[in-house]
Amino acid sequence: MGSVGISYTFEGTVEQLRADFLAKCDQDAWEKGHGPYSGSMGTAGSLTVQEHKRFTDVQTAEEYVDGLGRWKNDYVAVRLSLPAKPYRVARAAEFEKLQRAVQSLGIEIYQEPKRVLAAVKAAKTAKRGCGTCTGVVPVKYLRSLDCPICGTAMFCVSNTERKRLDSLNAKLVATRERLDRSEREFNDAARDRIESWYVSGRASS
Ligand SMILES: [Zn+2]
Repeated sequence: MGSVGISYTFEGTVEQLRADFLAKCDQDAWEKGHGPYSGSMGTAGSLTVQEHKRFTDVQTAEEYVDGLGRWKNDYVAVRLSLPAKPYRVARAAEFEKLQRAVQSLGIEIYQEPKRVLAAVKAAKTAKRGCGTCTGVVPVKYLRSLDCPICGTAMFCVSNTERKRLDSLNAKLVATRERLDRSEREFNDAARDRIESWYVSGRASS
């Protein structure tokens, strides 16, 4: 009569861990019989999940569980902090990429009107007419792209430039929406509480 160590790792929630443990016991009992010395999980008594115990590698987890005074056939599970799941890592990378995209679009949208204004001032045309108030404005006094008389936005901007600015703004709105969606997905991934577990016990043989 001796005993045999049985251990394995499992990925999932606590509920899944417990369900999987029972399934393994059932399967061993079915395949190897209920005999008290079957050396399998078929005779497993209980599974104690020490949710507060967390280890960074299997070996340390094993040493800890082995050091516990346990009855044969009583199993213990502890948490393993293994590297983050690929899905979570991918979501985080996507989120960061979109964050950078929103940031650079924001900078571009902030700088673009200044660039256009500088171009308007550098152009040969010394005065620009406003289509709204019909006022004529000397460009060298312009401080922004708005008409200083009536406030019409981008009064001196060509349709091509206007379209460029509009498309930049549309791109920013779309990227912000994608960022929001990505943030939700990232949070969901972080919340799924899928963890790695180390389970260990001894069976009589
Ligand atoms: Zn005007």
